[in-house]
Amino acid sequence: MPEGPEIRRAADKLEKAIVGRPLRAVEFAHARLKTFEDELAAAQVTAIETRGKALLTHFSNKLSVYSHNQLYGRWYVVKAGKPANTTRSLRFAVRGTTHDVLLYSASDIDVLDEIGIATHALLQKLGPDILSRALTARQTEQQLSSERFQGRRLGDLLLDQAFFAGIGNYLRSEILFEARLLPTRKLKTLQTDERPVLANAILTISRRAYQLAGITNDPARAMALKAAGVSFGQRRHAVFERDGLACYRCGDTIERAELNRRVFWCGGCQH
Ligand SMILES: [Zn+2]
Repeated sequence: MPEGPEIRRAADKLEKAIVGRPLRAVEFAHARLKTFEDELAAAQVTAIETRGKALLTHFSNKLSVYSHNQLYGRWYVVKAGKPANTTRSLRFAVRGTTHDVLLYSASDIDVLDEIGIATHALLQKLGPDILSRALTARQTEQQLSSERFQGRRLGDLLLDQAFFAGIGNYLRSEILFEARLLPTRKLKTLQTDERPVLANAILTISRRAYQLAGITNDPARAMALKAAGVSFGQRRHAVFERDGLACYRCGDTIERAELNRRVFWCGGCQH
């Protein structure tokens, strides 16, 4: 399953193809949304925002198209007027002057105004998006101080999209390694000096994975491993899928267990 960094990178490709360009047409498969087609086609796409696994395609007329891919939905970018190479069914199309962006198979699509976004059932439940450019270290720390999360184990909590949206399984293990915290620690047991460290790790590791196409390992270490001929899969992470191997930081053996899903950590340097 794609995590926040992969979803944001996919949204970047869509933005590059369509933002700020005059539109030829906007099309929906759902009959109840067809009424918006002409109005949206007369506007332009201003941004494509990610909120967890949901996408908001914002238009200059203050309307936004909400879409959630669930398991099946898939976006394509094609040259203007060309069909995508797929047998899936087209659900939403934004056709521009140079490219078309096409969403196939997704069934969860809606047109929302600002109030509709603010009151949307799924969007309302999401915590801050880790790849939001507006998310600051201070806001991240505030979320760590929120009373309702204090009794939860960090390993469980980091996968909860109400805590932060966009963290999935590999980010969870890598963030906790960066912060030197065990997945079984409860949030309320964090010392005063550990909270900013965790907040910083959440932002640093998520943004690194976004910028480096999925690499969460220390960038200098990942480069050295690459120079030594180590494959992408082998150099990508510090602990994730490295059970039984030596910790890069302390040399102890990386461990693995099930905590909702597979979780990896180093008992030597995570406490
Ligand atoms: Zn270690």
